[in-house]
Parts: sequence; structure tokens; C-alpha cells
Amino acid sequence: MEEFDKVSSVFENGLLKEEDLGFKVIDPLPGAPLFYNLRCCFKDGQWQEPEITTDRELHLRMEAGCHYYGHTWFEGLTAHLTKDGRCLLFRPRDHIARARISSEILSMEVVPESLFMEAVKEVVKKNAAYIPCYGTEARLYLRPFLLGTNPQLGLKESWEFLFVVFAYPVGPYYPKDLSSKKLYCSPRYDRVAERGTGKAKNGGNYTASYPAKRLAQTKGCGEYLYLDCATRSRILETGSSNFIALRADEVLVTPDEAEVLESITNLSLQTIAAELMGFKVEKRRFPLNEFRTKKGPHCFFETALCGTAARVQQIELIVYENYYGRDRREFEFKGNGKWCHELYQHLVAIQYGDEKDRWDWTEEVKL
Ligand code: PLP
Repeated sequence: MEEFDKVSSVFENGLLKEEDLGFKVIDPLPGAPLFYNLRCCFKDGQWQEPEITTDRELHLRMEAGCHYYGHTWFEGLTAHLTKDGRCLLFRPRDHIARARISSEILSMEVVPESLFMEAVKEVVKKNAAYIPCYGTEARLYLRPFLLGTNPQLGLKESWEFLFVVFAYPVGPYYPKDLSSKKLYCSPRYDRVAERGTGKAKNGGNYTASYPAKRLAQTKGCGEYLYLDCATRSRILETGSSNFIALRADEVLVTPDEAEVLESITNLSLQTIAAELMGFKVEKRRFPLNEFRTKKGPHCFFETALCGTAARVQQIELIVYENYYGRDRREFEFKGNGKWCHELYQHLVAIQYGDEKDRWDWTEEVKL
């Protein structure tokens, strides 16, 4: 298959439309270039030469620790085209730093920053035809991951690894339906243990979130909001996003707990709220019963989920039920969404180079 040159974007050619993109794997259409990915092995105590390929299969030993012991982490970051045609990665160094934390927590090899950064940039360049055009809010999503690959039977830390980076253009993460604005919260499920792997983006954490998400969906809600493991009274996050809440007295509150993944989007929103919107930011323990306050300065107007894929997803209703699905309470947030919208606008404007990058969050990839 012929490779497209850099300017022959599949979007400019009309082969793909940004408005048709969701958050999913796509197969190249006839006449469009193949998707490239990068692989790099860690073997005999060192990183080998990276390989760029259009092969979307991995060739792994069936006895690799990633298969049955879940020895794996992943990351998710995005690249955006600016008005003047530059390509910007959003906070890649923070994603690389979090991957290091994942490796340390999970006893996996650390992917060196230079290898990680070069791999991401190379994958962006090779998939340049798939970067959505400026002005559409679609972007190129990069998925780096690390697998423990040496054959083994016993429960033991891996000593050989495979680092992979692939990319797809993506649109919105959540469907535009009502359930996406509702969360289901209960003490029934934990995603991770209090002293477990919550600060790592380990595959097992996500598998553990499926039953809770399924329950939330049967209740007409898009996501399950977890409570802390010890007291089941404080808000944590959902299976794929952090949680923020905006109070009448212009305070942004977000949970700070051992179980919660450090979200780079959330960190960005906290900075935007404090520095650009004049909010006070409280990163702390967040009891669910703070939502009982219905009036006055401590009443919450808006709440949202945030993450690389979701960006800022406003939540209008949290349904709480006890373990047995009884004792139902509903917390409604009656703000008109103007604060969530403002947070979103600043975030996106920085990502696409429309707003000054005051904090050096973006990094250019020379296409
Ligand atoms: N929390 C969980 C459990 C996640 O999987 C994600 C997504 O990566 C987030 C929060 C948001 O993190 P980030 O903003 O870095 O994408």
C-alpha cells in the first residue's frame, strides 16, 4: 500500500470525516494509508532497537506473564493540529512520568524518557495522515503500553518486556445521551484496594471495574462512581476518569486518595481553575454527603468527570444506593454548565495552540 505524503490527510481527502469519529479502533479504508505502530523489546538487561511496522498483531509467547498475571500498564495521550499546521502533544512528559510510576509500582522495567518520547513522536509522524484537521475537536490518540513477555509459569515478576505505541484518530469518548450525564454510586464495588495499584495504570484495575460499570448501566447511568475502600463514604473516581466538583463560592474540589489515579487532565483543570478562573482548589478527602448542602456558598453547582479521552464531561445527577440497592438518594447539580464549559474551552484552546501555553504543557512534533 502506498504511503500518503504528510499533507494528504485522510480528512482533507474526504476518506474519513472527523464528525464520524468516536473512541474506537478503525481499520484503514481502501485507498488510505495503513496505521503504523512502534515496538521495542527489553531483553538481556537492555532495550533493543525499536521497530516501526504496520503489522497490528503481536507475536508473543503464550506463557508470557502479561497474559495471565496481567503484568502490564498503559498510557493515553493526544496530539493536535494547530491553526498554522503545527502538531502539539499534550503534556507528554507528565504521561511519561506517570508510566515510570506505573513501572515502579508494578515491578516492571522503566521505559527511559528519551525512548518513550522518541517513540511517541515517531508514531505521530508516521501516522500524520490521520491527525484530524484543526477546528474539529478531534485529535490523534496515542496508546503506549508495556507488557511482561518472558515465558514463565510461576507467579514472578517479568524480566523481559515489550513496549508498544499505536495511534488512532478519535472523537468524543462519551455518547451524547442522557446516561452519560448520570453517575451511579454505591458501596458495592471497589476498583482497587486502598493500598493497592490505584496509582498505576495497570490493566487489572480496568478489568476490576467492569462489574461496577455494568451495574451502573443497568441503573441508566453512564459510569460507576467509587467510594473509598475503608469507610465507603468518600468519593474517589470512576473506572476511567477523575471527578471534580465546583462549589457556589468558586471552589473546585477533587478527591485526594491513595486509590485514585493522578489524572493529567485533572491537574491541568486545577491549574486553569486557579490561575485563569480565580477559583480556590481543594484537593482533599471528599465526603459524598457534602452534596446534601442544597443552599448557600457550600452548595455544589456543577460536577464533571475528566480525563484525556473524556476531557470534561459534565455530570448532572449522581444516584446513590446502598449495598442492597435500597436507600436511594439523588444528588442533582443545577448549574448551567458555564464553569465546566469554561474549563473545557481553556483546556482545548491550549491543546490546539489557540491559547498561550503558560505552563509549557505542549511539545511540538515536527511533521
Ligand atoms: N482515572 C482513571 C482510572 C483513568 O483511567 C484515567 C485515564 O487515563 C483518568 C483517571 C484520567 O487520567 P488522564 O487525565 O491522565 O487521562
